[in-house]
Amino acid sequence: MNKNNYHTHTTRCFHAIGKDEEYVKAAIQANIKELGFSDHTPWHYDSSFKASMRMPECQLDDYIESIRYLKEKYKDQISILIGLECEYFERYMPWLEKMLEDKKIDYIILGNHYYQTDELHQYFGSPVNEYYLKAYVDHCIQAIDTGLYSYIAHPDLVYYDPDSKLYQEEMSRLCAYAKEKDMPLEFNLLGFMSGRHYPNESFWKIASKYKNKAIIGFDAHSPDALLKDDIYQQAFNYLSSLDVELIDTIKTLKNKDNALTKKLSRI
Ligand SMILES: [Zn+2]
Ligand SMILES: [Zn+2]
Repeated sequence: MNKNNYHTHTTRCFHAIGKDEEYVKAAIQANIKELGFSDHTPWHYDSSFKASMRMPECQLDDYIESIRYLKEKYKDQISILIGLECEYFERYMPWLEKMLEDKKIDYIILGNHYYQTDELHQYFGSPVNEYYLKAYVDHCIQAIDTGLYSYIAHPDLVYYDPDSKLYQEEMSRLCAYAKEKDMPLEFNLLGFMSGRHYPNESFWKIASKYKNKAIIGFDAHSPDALLKDDIYQQAFNYLSSLDVELIDTIKTLKNKDNALTKKLSRI
């Protein structure tokens, strides 16, 4: 099993630190074989809304150029992919699909942070009611159905009583669907390391019951996060004790069977 990481941010999202190159150097030092950058995607809003937790659209080309440069510079030491962490905002998905194609993005992961769009709605990671819990799972399922996302980042982000019957039912619905569609679930090291409400044991017991595929994601918001090998090992040991299938690589947009690649192959 290789130590790879596909969940890496940059300063462009306003809440990460360190130069892009410092992430690459830290990854090499940590013996990571493949490093995927997946900063919080921009969205092309209908309104004049400016998100404070994601890359502005005007930074996207700089992000891509910077990673492409590092990919070439360090190609003998590490494999680097250009990705994005994206929500599932139904109304903006046509824009996203076109952007992924135009910019030749390698992969995206689902960071299901907001209901419908962050112009209007609350963060799923703060306490939510029953309606939002169900909507969270619905969004995940709709995202899986697009065939675009390589995995679900912090699938247990939604903040709801993990011991409740409804949580158990809804997360079972999510895990069963992810299993059926062969969609890996991320064990999020940022949450694990900082004692957030995710990853949570109730969720991972359900994932174990459904024998989901699991992948470890650092969710690095600073280069030194990649160097925390003890945290990685703890997560690895925990997941090994569960009945999940731990994987270390992802399917990229090039080798995924989705509408986008079908379109590309016709050209
Ligand atoms: Zn972030
Ligand atoms: Zn993230």
